Amino acid sequence: PPSKRVCILGSGNWGSTAARIVGANVAKLADFDDTVNFWVHEELVDGRKLTDIINAEHENVKYLPGHKLPDNVIAMPDATEAVKDATHIIIVIPHQFLQHLLETVHGKILPSARAISLIKGIGISDQGMTTMTQIIHRALAIPVSSLSGANIANEIAEEKYCETTIGCQDPDEAIVWRSLFNTPYFQVNCVADVIGVEFCGALKNVVAVGAGFIDGLGLGNNTKAAIIRIGFLEMRRLAMHIAGASIQESTFMESCGLADVITTCYGGRNRRLAEYFVRTGKPMPQLERELLNGQKLQGYLTAGEVYSYIDSCGITDHFPLLTNIYQICYENMPPHTIFAGLNVDFSRD
Ligand code: NAD
Ligand code: 13P
Repeated sequence: PPSKRVCILGSGNWGSTAARIVGANVAKLADFDDTVNFWVHEELVDGRKLTDIINAEHENVKYLPGHKLPDNVIAMPDATEAVKDATHIIIVIPHQFLQHLLETVHGKILPSARAISLIKGIGISDQGMTTMTQIIHRALAIPVSSLSGANIANEIAEEKYCETTIGCQDPDEAIVWRSLFNTPYFQVNCVADVIGVEFCGALKNVVAVGAGFIDGLGLGNNTKAAIIRIGFLEMRRLAMHIAGASIQESTFMESCGLADVITTCYGGRNRRLAEYFVRTGKPMPQLERELLNGQKLQGYLTAGEVYSYIDSCGITDHFPLLTNIYQICYENMPPHTIFAGLNVDFSRD
């Protein structure tokens, strides 16, 4: 009998796309139970429970409309029920909800379970800046890997070719995680650098907000390329400042690094709403409510979290772009101030 069982915690735009991939893959893996437990933060859609809709129609009509989920993906409203027998737990929710979810499932998981985080975000605590895998590991005391890449969910649901990066320290476990996610159109590359993968995924969302400001200002491709270049170097500088000893430089050239900055700065939600922010003058949370139909922005919150960290360390001078993006988002600085002080020397980084 199969000895392994998957649970997916989170059913938004990316969570539902991940469920499409993993559901199809487990059906072909002999050592995995066919059923995928899919935790859905319950809500009513046109008067019906979203879990009921997903289980009847095999489609997340709110967060991934137009794409069927495999029949073996079973929506569940109770996270503790969903994780109960899972050996492999995939966590994919907007980062602001992670702490509450971990409190809910704490003590309810198998001690031998392992997890992978598909979340793009960071946490701030008394100890400084922490990654999602560190937060999950501290809460659940199980091994935690990361998956991040140039992965706009809707394009992957359409099965358009792309790459992703898994960060996993144990090579045998990496093979198992890869077998759950890899498809001909979703090419997984595994590296050992768990937190480097995560820092890339979280920090590029702030750069994408900057790229959206450029689009809102009506500036061109060259300007956006400058923001991408400087943003990428500030991302790398910050990640190395926080965890240089445990991060591989080469991670920044994986799909989770350079490729994700590019795709998000051209096609992501963070970019799109930052463009509207400049054009309309409305605050980001209002635009999120008006335009995303329940989906969540990560870059705006991450800009605030990054700034609180670099400000507390007294190092904002080393991160002018990240600082300017924060001040435009939160301190009413006009969008064109994004260019202030960007002539930084990165040559010794
Ligand atoms: P999303 O942006 O679609 O957010 C909506 C989800 O949040 C829904 O499942 C909703 O039920 C849930 N939610 C709302 N309130 C909640 C609460 N109080 N508690 C728990 N859940 C709640 O989500 P997503 O696109 O699946 O993103 C999840 C993570 O994956 C994010 O960190 C994101 O950056 C990352 N990611 C997203 C994409 C993408 O293209 N969408 C790609 C790669 C990575
Ligand atoms: P957005 O959240 O900006 O849409 O970015 C999605 C993403 O992470 C693409 O890799």
